[in-house]
Amino acid sequence: MRKLFIAGNWKMNTDAKSASVLALGLAKALDTSIYKAVDVAVCPPFVYLQGVATALAGSKISLGAQNVYFEDNGAFTGETSCAMLKDLCCEYVILGHSERRHVIGETDGLINKKMHKTLASGLKPIFAVGELLAQREANETDKVVKTQIEKGLAGITAEQMKDITIAYEPVWAIGTGKTATSGQAQAVHAFIRQRVASLDGQVAAKLCILYGGSVKANNATELFAMADIDGGLIGGASLVADEFLAICRAGQV
Ligand code: PEP
Repeated sequence: MRKLFIAGNWKMNTDAKSASVLALGLAKALDTSIYKAVDVAVCPPFVYLQGVATALAGSKISLGAQNVYFEDNGAFTGETSCAMLKDLCCEYVILGHSERRHVIGETDGLINKKMHKTLASGLKPIFAVGELLAQREANETDKVVKTQIEKGLAGITAEQMKDITIAYEPVWAIGTGKTATSGQAQAVHAFIRQRVASLDGQVAAKLCILYGGSVKANNATELFAMADIDGGLIGGASLVADEFLAICRAGQV
């Protein structure tokens, strides 16, 4: 039985005060038995990790970063290392998010280097994959997701896979208000689990696969009820405490 996992991706939003207020509010609210059956993480902007870490101290919420670089230190202006994230109590790192792939231009090769460094450092990747609208319309979803998984996870062992969460995020559903139907999402999640099962069946059975793409309180229950959907990577709705908390309650019934 896989435990429900909800991760909030705050993207480039909030400021120092609102980030801490949001984190404190979530920490307090989630500290009740209603949320026992769900694991929760939030991924604030780098500059607010410290403040949010302080706000979350002693709570059940884990801290994640939205990105990381694969080198240890040195002349890499603007980058952040795994050790720096660990220093700030991060447990998770989002890798391969569509905004980093398609807006910033990250390649599968770069994501793979980050994947290796993240795992070697003891941080847990939340590895995002997903197709563009044109690729879905051309019936290429499985092919795109398969390639992203094979290249992003190249050289990763079955043992290391235990620390990875995969997030299926169709690009056309991110921040657009369009959600994949529960059937569309389930089909891709099942496909991802089969791909991982071809490497190791036991790891695949335990693998947490999140859905992301305009998840809201009013569609979360149906999505999380699907056999291979183990929770969500939540963007816009993670910035509103009541909405995020309602998503955390969804799927627990
Ligand atoms: C995301 O940022 O990963 C995401 C899914 O965003 P949204 O929920 O806003 O679509």
